Amino acid sequence: MFSHRVTLFKLLGFEVRVDASWLLIALLISWSLAVGYFPYRYHGLSRGDYWWMGIAAALGLFISIVIHEFAHSLVARHYGLPMKGITLFIFGGVAEMGDEPSNAKTEFLMAIAGPITSILIGVFFYAFHQAVVTVWPITVLGILAYLAWINWILAAFPLDGGRVLRSALWQWKGNVASATRIASSIGSGFGVLLMLVAVWQLWEGNFIAAMWYFLLGMFLRHAAESSYQQLVIRKALEGEPVRRFMNSNPVTVSPDLSIENLVEDYIYKKHYKMFPVVADESHTLAGCVTSSNVKNVPREEWSRHQVREVLQPCSTDNTISPDADAVKALAQISRSGQSRLMVVDHNHLVGVLALKDLMGFLASKMDLEGDFRSHTPHALTR
Ligand SMILES: [Zn+2]
Repeated sequence: MFSHRVTLFKLLGFEVRVDASWLLIALLISWSLAVGYFPYRYHGLSRGDYWWMGIAAALGLFISIVIHEFAHSLVARHYGLPMKGITLFIFGGVAEMGDEPSNAKTEFLMAIAGPITSILIGVFFYAFHQAVVTVWPITVLGILAYLAWINWILAAFPLDGGRVLRSALWQWKGNVASATRIASSIGSGFGVLLMLVAVWQLWEGNFIAAMWYFLLGMFLRHAAESSYQQLVIRKALEGEPVRRFMNSNPVTVSPDLSIENLVEDYIYKKHYKMFPVVADESHTLAGCVTSSNVKNVPREEWSRHQVREVLQPCSTDNTISPDADAVKALAQISRSGQSRLMVVDHNHLVGVLALKDLMGFLASKMDLEGDFRSHTPHALTR
């Protein structure tokens, strides 16, 4: 889902990224405002005015969403949850967590921080609007009024509401799985309701409103369902050490191997992106080598150079301990985009963990223990 993202900047230790899908939405927002909302609210301005109002308002919305996500992230970090960064995509953003909150109270505070921040941003824009209402041109006032309104809408956005609801159910029932299931069904139902509103709006001839209700409904349904799936995956992998899934006899290359042989016998034959470089007897991990390391060496010199000259140290992104939790490994794989992790114990390579092995285990477990919906296997109860 986050395959086409670009890092914009780094603030307070969080990377802020934007997904390609957000650019499309930003365009749609600017367009909807420029041809729909602003001409409807403020008559008699030029088409150019409506467009720059639309673009400025979309930019203001973007900044508001970033601040909203920062609120979630700062509260999460305060409670010791590792945060990967903030990615803006389709609707709003996602504060990416490396881990889920461990209790209902943390979840509640983390979830509520976003809406509270949005209410405050809305108040700020409203006060700003009131302060300059007699002095500034109608174009600027229109943008400020829109930003006040849209931030209050963001505060009421059902996604955070869903998390608040889940934390309340979690506290009440003492079971995160059933809380997630109920909250996700309600979220999904709400999504369907919005799509029905879309149909009604279309019937009434409000094309732009219909489009937004439809997109929001689709998004909510998707978010609700994927939050439940994520939980199922976490529960299935939780407490299982990486050691259990790794291949303990992985393909390795020797530092003495020539680049020629590396390319011919490994890169072209095995099709892995990266190979662990291991000194023959000791199994000590000397580093990692990828096809991009080879690219720096001219083709005609491949036979005269060895792997040891081009290898790079393996990073914390592509290595993991054999005793680490499989949930952690999965989070690391999704964060770094590596499909294989080197399993390293005291600088010795003990195996390689591949995403497909984790997925294979999940598939078998679902098959044997049901889809986790119909009954509650041991993996779901805390
Ligand atoms: Zn939020």
